[in-house]
Amino acid sequence: MTIQTIIKNSIKRLELEGKLLTPDFYAEAFCKEAARAGMKVEDCHQLDKFTQTLHKDFQKELTQYRITTMNELARFLISKLNRTNQNHCAEMLESQVLFTKKVLHVVEVLHNKEAAELAKKSIEMLNQSPTTVQLEQFKQLWTNFITSYDDTFLQRLGSLGRVDSANLKESVENLRIATDSSADSLANMDLETISSLLISSLVPSIASSFNEDIASVSKKIRENPSILGDESVIDEVKAAIALRIALDKESLKEMVESIDGVLDKLSLRLIDMIEKSDNSTTEIRKIKDELEAYSGESDKNFTLSHKKLFTIALALEENTQLLSSDLRGHSSEIAILSQRVRELEQELIAAKEESKEDFLTKLYNKRALDDFMNIKESEFERYGHNFSVVMFDVDYFKAVNDTFGHDAGDAVLFAFAKILKKEGRIEDIIGRFGGEEFMAILSETDTEGGVIFAEKVRKHVEQAKFMYKDQRISVTVSAGISERKQHSSLNVTLNSADEYLYSAKKDGRNRVAYRK
Ligand code: GH3
Ligand code: MG
Ligand code: MG
Repeated sequence: MTIQTIIKNSIKRLELEGKLLTPDFYAEAFCKEAARAGMKVEDCHQLDKFTQTLHKDFQKELTQYRITTMNELARFLISKLNRTNQNHCAEMLESQVLFTKKVLHVVEVLHNKEAAELAKKSIEMLNQSPTTVQLEQFKQLWTNFITSYDDTFLQRLGSLGRVDSANLKESVENLRIATDSSADSLANMDLETISSLLISSLVPSIASSFNEDIASVSKKIRENPSILGDESVIDEVKAAIALRIALDKESLKEMVESIDGVLDKLSLRLIDMIEKSDNSTTEIRKIKDELEAYSGESDKNFTLSHKKLFTIALALEENTQLLSSDLRGHSSEIAILSQRVRELEQELIAAKEESKEDFLTKLYNKRALDDFMNIKESEFERYGHNFSVVMFDVDYFKAVNDTFGHDAGDAVLFAFAKILKKEGRIEDIIGRFGGEEFMAILSETDTEGGVIFAEKVRKHVEQAKFMYKDQRISVTVSAGISERKQHSSLNVTLNSADEYLYSAKKDGRNRVAYRK
């Protein structure tokens, strides 16, 4: 058969089949006619050539959709390409990997060592962008795991209770006895041991009182441990346990009540303390009010005691803080004050040194007398102003002290000083030279004037009533007088006055001695 015949037959075939003479239909009809004529046409097998290069899944689809022409193949491929989105695929892949990892994490914690290890390795593998070969290897490992997984060991727990392998948690919770070992030891424990344990546990732990009922149950069990199985004994033991708990509770309540009493007293003391320490602090007042409120409450339970303790501790803490801040404040004040005291002491020492007043008689002291004598001396030297020195010494003054006491002696000295002041002129310088010795420096006065003054004093003393605590003390005084003009220097003048005083004493006291 020639190619022309095949072409003619092809056109005829199209007519018979009622198809239009389109290139596709014609090509289809031509290939069929060529095949019928036993002619091999390269173009007719083009489709097969392409489809064979496609993935098996696609080949299946091609037969499913009856794709027989190149045109149809092209449309099929176009629609496939349009449907496939690379980004979408990557996203899908990524979320699937994440999902797989999550599942593997769950497997890791599911109490199966092998599965957990495999899950861990699988996660590591997924983290390192695995190849299809690696994925395949792990798929195989998981297949091996699940095919060799054996949970028959759970059946061995069956003797302890019903084991549901689908819900191990519940099974474990329902186990009648906690562990195998405790079950064994309990079974091995003889009744006697159990009964002695039971008896010792019946003794109240807090309550100290002996209880008849508990004692009788204990005695019964001790005598015959086998009765522990009896229903009635079990009830008795239960009642004894309840009684023991009640006794302990009662004791505890009493203890708490006694603590409560102590706390009440303590809080009252604290309130008192706070009141005394600082009434103005509002914070302390608040705590104080709270403590007062607690003291009034009748419901005394442990919580309340605890609360009270806490409040007391709080009050103490705050009060201590206040006190310590007070102390800190005070200590700086004290430091300032002690510094001031030191300064005052220094000032006092300086003042004493500078003082010109005799502390007992309020006359001039020795220092002042020395200063005045120097002034008088320079006046004498410069202007020739004469002056006299009168030295007084109380007679037998030691005897006054010995007879009437030192205080009486002081009183006499004070009174004598008054006489000296009274008898002297305003411009006379009168002072205490030391002990019971006195001195008068009389300006512009010669020996004669000095004698007049000294005699006035002597007579006044002689007649004076020195009284000390209703006792009359008789006192006399001796004096020695010297005039500056009659001597070469102040010192010689003073020595001279002293010598005359000495001679007045020697001559019998109560007299005035001077150069005649
Ligand atoms: P005479 O007549 O020789 O002066 O005898 P007297 O006892 O007065 O002299 P003496 O020097 O033996 O004693 C002086 C006494 O004065 C001894 C001393 O204790 C006492 N005396 C000195 N100063 C004070 C004083 O301030 N107060 C008192 N109460 N006694 C003093
Ligand atoms: Mg004397
Ligand atoms: Mg004397």
